[in-house]
Amino acid sequence: MRCIDEQGYHFEEWLTPAEIAGDVKQVADRIRADYRDKEPLFVVVLNGAFVFASDLMRAIGDDIRCEVTFIRVSSYFGMATTGRLEFIVPLQQVVDQRDVIIVEDIVDSGLTIHQLKAHMRGLGASSVKVASMLFKPSKLEYPDAKPDYVGREISEEFVIGYGLDFDGFCRNLDAIYKVKK
Ligand code: 5GP
Repeated sequence: MRCIDEQGYHFEEWLTPAEIAGDVKQVADRIRADYRDKEPLFVVVLNGAFVFASDLMRAIGDDIRCEVTFIRVSSYFGMATTGRLEFIVPLQQVVDQRDVIIVEDIVDSGLTIHQLKAHMRGLGASSVKVASMLFKPSKLEYPDAKPDYVGREISEEFVIGYGLDFDGFCRNLDAIYKVKK
Protein backbone atom coordinates (compact mmCIF):
# COMPACT_ATOMS: atom_id res chain seq x y z
CA MET A 1 0.00 0.00 0.00
CA ARG A 2 1.30 3.44 -0.92
CA CYS A 3 1.76 6.05 1.80
CA ILE A 4 2.34 9.81 1.82
CA ASP A 5 3.71 11.95 4.64
CA GLU A 6 2.59 15.57 4.44
CA GLN A 7 3.12 18.28 7.04
CA GLY A 8 3.56 15.77 9.87
CA TYR A 9 0.52 13.68 8.96
CA HIS A 10 0.60 10.13 7.65
CA PHE A 11 -1.76 9.20 4.79
CA GLU A 12 -2.44 5.72 3.37
CA GLU A 13 -3.82 4.92 -0.07
CA TRP A 14 -7.57 4.32 0.17
CA LEU A 15 -8.74 4.31 -3.47
CA THR A 16 -6.36 3.18 -6.21
CA PRO A 17 -6.43 4.84 -9.64
CA ALA A 18 -8.24 1.75 -11.00
CA GLU A 19 -10.91 1.93 -8.28
CA ILE A 20 -11.38 5.65 -8.94
CA ALA A 21 -11.76 4.96 -12.67
CA GLY A 22 -14.49 2.41 -11.87
CA ASP A 23 -16.35 4.93 -9.72
CA VAL A 24 -16.05 7.64 -12.38
CA LYS A 25 -17.35 5.28 -15.05
CA GLN A 26 -20.37 4.40 -12.92
CA VAL A 27 -21.19 8.12 -12.47
CA ALA A 28 -20.63 8.79 -16.19
CA ASP A 29 -22.93 5.91 -17.20
CA ARG A 30 -25.75 7.28 -15.05
CA ILE A 31 -25.35 10.83 -16.33
CA ARG A 32 -25.22 9.62 -19.92
CA ALA A 33 -28.48 7.70 -19.44
CA ASP A 34 -30.24 10.59 -17.68
CA TYR A 35 -29.16 13.33 -20.11
CA ARG A 36 -29.35 11.49 -23.40
CA ASP A 37 -31.86 13.96 -24.87
CA LYS A 38 -30.54 17.07 -23.13
CA GLU A 39 -27.60 19.45 -23.50
CA PRO A 40 -26.32 19.85 -19.94
CA LEU A 41 -23.98 22.55 -18.73
CA PHE A 42 -21.35 21.16 -16.35
CA VAL A 43 -20.28 23.72 -13.75
CA VAL A 44 -16.99 22.54 -12.24
CA VAL A 45 -16.19 23.86 -8.76
CA LEU A 46 -12.53 24.84 -8.64
CA ASN A 47 -10.02 24.02 -7.44
CA GLY A 48 -10.62 20.52 -6.16
CA ALA A 49 -12.98 19.16 -8.81
CA PHE A 50 -10.74 19.72 -11.82
CA VAL A 51 -9.27 16.21 -11.82
CA PHE A 52 -12.60 14.42 -11.34
CA ALA A 53 -14.26 16.67 -13.93
CA SER A 54 -11.56 15.96 -16.49
CA ASP A 55 -11.99 12.18 -16.12
CA LEU A 56 -15.79 12.42 -15.88
CA MET A 57 -16.15 14.42 -19.09
CA ARG A 58 -14.10 11.92 -21.06
CA ALA A 59 -15.88 8.94 -19.47
CA ILE A 60 -19.21 10.44 -20.58
CA GLY A 61 -17.81 10.60 -24.08
CA ASP A 62 -19.59 11.86 -27.15
CA ASP A 63 -23.02 10.33 -26.52
CA ILE A 64 -24.34 13.61 -25.15
CA ARG A 65 -23.83 17.15 -26.36
CA CYS A 66 -22.72 19.30 -23.44
CA GLU A 67 -20.75 22.34 -22.31
CA VAL A 68 -18.33 22.83 -19.43
CA THR A 69 -17.62 25.93 -17.39
CA PHE A 70 -15.82 26.70 -14.13
CA ILE A 71 -16.55 28.53 -10.92
CA ARG A 72 -14.59 29.18 -7.76
CA VAL A 73 -16.22 30.28 -4.52
CA SER A 74 -14.79 31.25 -1.18
CA SER A 75 -14.53 28.44 1.33
CA TYR A 76 -14.70 30.98 4.14
CA PHE A 77 -18.43 31.41 4.45
CA GLY A 78 -18.76 31.80 8.22
CA MET A 79 -22.45 32.48 7.86
CA ALA A 80 -25.82 30.80 7.72
CA THR A 81 -27.83 29.69 4.73
CA THR A 82 -28.86 33.23 3.86
CA GLY A 83 -25.23 34.25 3.47
CA ARG A 84 -23.66 35.73 0.40
CA LEU A 85 -21.56 33.58 -1.92
CA GLU A 86 -18.15 35.06 -2.58
CA PHE A 87 -17.02 34.36 -6.13
CA ILE A 88 -13.28 34.16 -6.71
CA VAL A 89 -13.85 32.92 -10.26
CA PRO A 90 -17.36 33.98 -11.24
CA LEU A 91 -19.62 32.06 -13.56
CA GLN A 92 -18.88 32.96 -17.18
CA GLN A 93 -21.81 31.19 -18.75
CA VAL A 94 -25.53 31.93 -18.99
CA VAL A 95 -27.38 29.25 -17.02
CA ASP A 96 -30.88 30.52 -17.75
CA GLN A 97 -33.00 27.60 -19.00
CA ARG A 98 -30.02 25.24 -18.86
CA ASP A 99 -29.82 21.81 -17.25
CA VAL A 100 -26.94 22.37 -14.88
CA ILE A 101 -24.79 19.64 -13.37
CA ILE A 102 -22.50 20.98 -10.64
CA VAL A 103 -19.29 18.93 -10.41
CA GLU A 104 -17.66 18.76 -6.96
CA ASP A 105 -14.74 16.83 -5.48
CA ILE A 106 -16.38 16.13 -2.12
CA VAL A 107 -19.59 17.11 -0.32
CA ASP A 108 -19.03 17.47 3.41
CA SER A 109 -21.47 19.74 5.32
CA GLY A 110 -23.09 20.56 1.99
CA LEU A 111 -22.93 24.33 2.52
CA THR A 112 -21.07 25.01 -0.74
CA ILE A 113 -23.53 23.00 -2.81
CA HIS A 114 -26.54 24.30 -0.91
CA GLN A 115 -25.55 27.85 -1.80
CA LEU A 116 -24.49 27.09 -5.36
CA LYS A 117 -27.77 25.32 -6.11
CA ALA A 118 -29.75 28.30 -4.86
CA HIS A 119 -27.55 30.58 -6.95
CA MET A 120 -28.10 28.54 -10.15
CA ARG A 121 -31.83 28.41 -9.58
CA GLY A 122 -31.85 32.16 -9.01
CA LEU A 123 -30.17 32.57 -12.39
CA GLY A 124 -32.98 30.63 -14.05
CA ALA A 125 -31.51 27.14 -14.49
CA SER A 126 -34.15 24.62 -15.64
CA SER A 127 -32.67 21.94 -13.40
CA VAL A 128 -29.69 21.68 -11.07
CA LYS A 129 -28.10 18.33 -10.20
CA VAL A 130 -24.85 17.55 -8.43
CA ALA A 131 -22.12 15.03 -9.28
CA SER A 132 -19.51 14.56 -6.57
CA MET A 133 -16.59 12.14 -6.54
CA LEU A 134 -16.95 11.71 -2.76
CA PHE A 135 -19.73 12.25 -0.26
CA LYS A 136 -19.61 12.25 3.56
CA PRO A 137 -23.27 11.45 4.44
CA SER A 138 -22.70 11.59 8.20
CA LYS A 139 -21.45 15.19 7.93
CA LEU A 140 -24.32 16.52 5.79
CA GLU A 141 -26.06 19.54 7.35
CA TYR A 142 -27.98 20.74 4.27
CA PRO A 143 -30.27 17.94 3.01
CA ASP A 144 -30.80 19.59 -0.41
CA ALA A 145 -27.04 19.31 -1.00
CA LYS A 146 -27.11 15.50 -1.12
CA PRO A 147 -25.40 14.75 -4.44
CA ASP A 148 -27.44 13.09 -7.20
CA TYR A 149 -24.40 11.25 -8.56
CA VAL A 150 -21.71 9.99 -6.17
CA GLY A 151 -18.48 8.17 -6.96
CA ARG A 152 -18.12 6.81 -3.46
CA GLU A 153 -19.38 7.48 0.03
CA ILE A 154 -16.85 8.01 2.78
CA SER A 155 -16.96 8.33 6.57
CA GLU A 156 -15.64 11.42 8.31
CA GLU A 157 -11.92 10.98 7.65
CA PHE A 158 -9.87 13.66 5.88
CA VAL A 159 -8.73 12.61 2.42
CA ILE A 160 -6.25 14.00 -0.10
CA GLY A 161 -5.24 13.37 -3.69
CA TYR A 162 -7.10 13.24 -7.01
CA GLY A 163 -7.70 16.98 -6.84
CA LEU A 164 -8.25 17.13 -3.07
CA ASP A 165 -5.64 19.21 -1.30
CA PHE A 166 -3.89 19.58 2.01
CA ASP A 167 -3.19 23.29 2.32
CA GLY A 168 -2.93 23.55 -1.44
CA PHE A 169 -0.64 20.54 -1.91
CA CYS A 170 -1.27 16.92 -2.97
CA ARG A 171 -3.89 17.62 -5.64
CA ASN A 172 -1.62 15.87 -8.15
CA LEU A 173 -1.72 12.43 -6.46
CA ASP A 174 -3.34 9.86 -8.73
CA ALA A 175 -4.93 7.95 -5.82
CA ILE A 176 -7.06 9.09 -2.86
CA TYR A 177 -5.35 8.85 0.51
CA LYS A 178 -6.90 8.76 3.99
CA VAL A 179 -5.24 10.34 7.00
CA LYS A 180 -4.06 7.77 9.54
CA LYS A 181 -4.62 8.72 13.17
P1 5GP B 1 -18.83 21.64 2.35
O1 5GP B 1 -19.24 22.98 1.85
O2 5GP B 1 -19.64 20.50 1.77
O3 5GP B 1 -18.82 21.58 3.86
O4 5GP B 1 -17.32 21.44 1.98
C1 5GP B 1 -16.92 21.06 0.74
C2 5GP B 1 -15.47 21.40 0.55
O5 5GP B 1 -14.70 21.14 1.73
C3 5GP B 1 -14.85 20.54 -0.52
O6 5GP B 1 -15.01 21.09 -1.81
C4 5GP B 1 -13.40 20.49 -0.08
O7 5GP B 1 -12.72 21.62 -0.57
C5 5GP B 1 -13.45 20.58 1.43
N1 5GP B 1 -13.35 19.25 2.07
C6 5GP B 1 -14.29 18.60 2.77
N2 5GP B 1 -13.85 17.41 3.21
C7 5GP B 1 -12.58 17.30 2.75
C8 5GP B 1 -11.58 16.26 2.86
O8 5GP B 1 -11.73 15.20 3.46
N3 5GP B 1 -10.38 16.52 2.24
C9 5GP B 1 -10.14 17.67 1.55
N4 5GP B 1 -8.94 17.79 1.00
N5 5GP B 1 -11.05 18.66 1.44
C10 5GP B 1 -12.26 18.46 2.03
